[in-house]
Amino acid sequence: MIRKTVFIRRDGKSIRSTSTPHNSYPIADSRYRIVLLYRRLYRHYGPQHWWPADTAWEMMVGAILTQNTAWTNVEKAIAALKRTDALSVHAIAHMPCKHLEKLIRSSGYFRQKARRLQEFARAILNDHALRRNLMPSSRRKPGSRGIFGLGPGFHRGDVKTMRDRLLSFNGVGPETADSILLYAGGYPTFVVDAYTRRIGQRLGLFKTNDYDEIQEYFHQRCRGGRLAARACQYNEFHALLVRLAKEICTKRHPRCAVCPVRDICKFGMKPSPALRAPSPASPRERAGPCLLPALAGRRWPKAG
Ligand code: SF4
Repeated sequence: MIRKTVFIRRDGKSIRSTSTPHNSYPIADSRYRIVLLYRRLYRHYGPQHWWPADTAWEMMVGAILTQNTAWTNVEKAIAALKRTDALSVHAIAHMPCKHLEKLIRSSGYFRQKARRLQEFARAILNDHALRRNLMPSSRRKPGSRGIFGLGPGFHRGDVKTMRDRLLSFNGVGPETADSILLYAGGYPTFVVDAYTRRIGQRLGLFKTNDYDEIQEYFHQRCRGGRLAARACQYNEFHALLVRLAKEICTKRHPRCAVCPVRDICKFGMKPSPALRAPSPASPRERAGPCLLPALAGRRWPKAG
């Protein structure tokens, strides 16, 4: 039997062929699958303009408040801070903790989060390097990409040093630290979250759940070449994965039939769910074939 391989054409369509067609890449090569994943999502959804915030500080507040809660709850908390003119670094650092708790109550774990926010705001005020590296919006060049001035020439400080500094804060884990580095500071670091894990595993890109391994996976494959490892692309890629996970590749009922990346997804290309996971046999099926139809109409001898 002649074995055909699936290739991806430049226009994003997949074709089956025995030899490599012109301007096509083998789909099994994960570097090209990453490129295709990004391109398809970008074409399907368009630019996402992340993070949904007006300033770098608002972005950082959102990243801390969004832990263990839905974004809609964070929006309410940020709206309350804005309404009372209390969203600035100074206001949060100096207001009574009880008052801050009241304002951010809708985001859940509000006592913990109020303490963390105040600690972070005070550090930003007292640490010049932190402030300079994470709040570059005041120096944004006209025409640069992203709301916080993402683009070449904006990286100040060392990514690892800044990441370690952020991780030293109470309650700031790798996901929050990388979100702040990428979306507020413009550092080229990929953000890994539950959505990235779910989509990556369903596509068959990786099996691991480990944060650092998944991040390294994206860093290695998005470096140079067609998908340059630039902060603006990590920015867009993460936002697109979140959109896909929320709208189509949901946790319980993924809508593979309308998914733009179905033809490169291992999960999506499996047979229908009914065939993929047959339901366990019913008690009647387990008991074997039913003899009743064969016995229908038979005359039984009378007892005695
Ligand atoms: S094809 Fe299905 S499982 Fe694969 S990414 Fe799309 S929705 Fe998720």
